[in-house]
Formats: sequence, C-alpha cells, structure tokens
Amino acid sequence: MDKLSPEQRHKNMAAIHSKDTKPEMIVRKWLWSRGFRYRLNSARLPGRPDLVLKKYRTCIFVNGCFWHGHNVPLPKVENSECCKIPQTNREFWVAKICRNKERDKEDQKKLAEMGWHCITVWECELKPLKREQTLKSLAFTLNKIWLEDHTVKGKPYPKLEEVDGMLMAAEEKVT
Ligand SMILES: [Zn+2]
Repeated sequence: MDKLSPEQRHKNMAAIHSKDTKPEMIVRKWLWSRGFRYRLNSARLPGRPDLVLKKYRTCIFVNGCFWHGHNVPLPKVENSECCKIPQTNREFWVAKICRNKERDKEDQKKLAEMGWHCITVWECELKPLKREQTLKSLAFTLNKIWLEDHTVKGKPYPKLEEVDGMLMAAEEKVT
C-alpha cells in the first residue's frame, strides 16, 4: 500500500536526493557566495576535479571519506576515524579503496606537473562543527596561492639596509 500522494512522494524523494546537503554543494555555495568563480567537473583535466578555479590555477576535490580512504594508511590498510572498512568482503573494499587512493595521488601529481594547485576538502571536515573553519581556511589558501602566483619572481627583496625605516627599527631595538 502506498499512502503517499504523488506530491508527498516527490517531496520525499527530493529530500533524499537533495543535492544541497552534499559536501560538494556546501563548498560550491560557500565559495560562490564569496565571489569565487569556478567550473565544474572539468573532463579535460586528470581526475575530473570537482571544481576548477582558473584564476587561482587551483583544482578542488571534495572527497568522500570512505571512497577515498581518508587517513587510511598505505600500504598497510587500517580503519581510520572516518573510513571504516566493512568486515564483510574486506579484501574487496581494501583493494578498491587502495586503487582510489593511488589514482587520486596520480591525478594530483599530473595536475601539479601541469601547473595546477590541488586542494582536497574532506567530507568529515564539512560536518557542521568543523565546516566554517574548513571553508575559511580554504578561502585563505586560495588567496595565498593567488598572491604567490602574482608575486614578481626573480626580483630579490631589497637588502635590509636599503629599506626605508630600517634605522627606526634598529633604534627601537636599542632602546
Ligand atoms: Zn574524513
């Protein structure tokens, strides 16, 4: 017996499949609201990064802790706080998680060789208590990357004695 009206059912399904609760949506919404612009799932880049921020030459991966084996040590695979490998068919899961981890590593290496920065945001870091801090530090990292990329290279900083105000600094030290 189906007691739900089509409308109710639709609501239920929508809630179950709600994309707004997905870790990736949390990151996307937050970044967008703060003026960061990105492309999604760029198929032309290794690993199909979830978000690509061209201005920051940065790829962001929002990873599920289980599938990507967050904090799971290799090669000796052990459960971590947020990645509990099922006892049933354990070998199967271990092999799968290992493969995923190795592929993630390969993809990020390729991206780095192409000149991209990579940031991984983990599902567990987006839980309500940690979310704000995680997102703030993500923005901080992006801004730091931008600054470093736009700092003129090959031009050494002036030597200390050439810096205006150095004398004052020295005087302050003496007193
Ligand atoms: Zn985790």
